[in-house]
Amino acid sequence: MEILKEKIREYGVLVSDNVLKVDSFLNHQLDPEFIVAVGHEFATRFAGDEVTKILTVEASGIAVALTTAMEMKVPCVFAKKNKPSTLQGEVYSSIVHSFTKNETVTISVAASYIDSNDRILIIDDFLAMGAASKGLIEIVGQSGAHLVGVGVVIEKGFQKGGRELRKSGVRVEPLVVIKSLAAGKVEFE
Ligand code: 5GP
Repeated sequence: MEILKEKIREYGVLVSDNVLKVDSFLNHQLDPEFIVAVGHEFATRFAGDEVTKILTVEASGIAVALTTAMEMKVPCVFAKKNKPSTLQGEVYSSIVHSFTKNETVTISVAASYIDSNDRILIIDDFLAMGAASKGLIEIVGQSGAHLVGVGVVIEKGFQKGGRELRKSGVRVEPLVVIKSLAAGKVEFE
């Protein structure tokens, strides 16, 4: 996705050798046209896969998950972090460690929003170590739904998440893969 590479080149800020900040268009301020284009791209890639629901985790995955859901005309569910008191009844949960925030959280989805008839597409902003995706996949497993695949806006190919997911048979669709963030430079695959 060329527009994404241009945005990263122009607005991406390197926080370290392995963390890229894209707050000006994806993670804090949202560029609506770009977010809609991302949804269109995911919907095109997974057209014909009979997706019934989009699943993401709060907060930074929600915008792109929503535009994907709008394009595919299906509902969008986001896993909540640290189970709020409003989340009652049967719940699917998994534990996710975030290496960027250095914290471990429990993510949960009410069982009433996913069931074994669903065909789930997981959407997220970044794929790094794969913890968020694996946590969501675990929730899909608990529900008995079918996992169609994982769509991520930015995959950091130098971290192990994508490799591990593909090895376990998961279809992973990144809109861009970053080969390296070393020496203050973004290198795409
Ligand atoms: P993973 O669970 O695959 O290690 O990381 C996925 C989550 O961590 C993403 O949802 C994203 O919020 C965050 N993340 C991972 N790497 C980066 C990064 O380089 N930049 C930003 N802004 N977030 C990241």
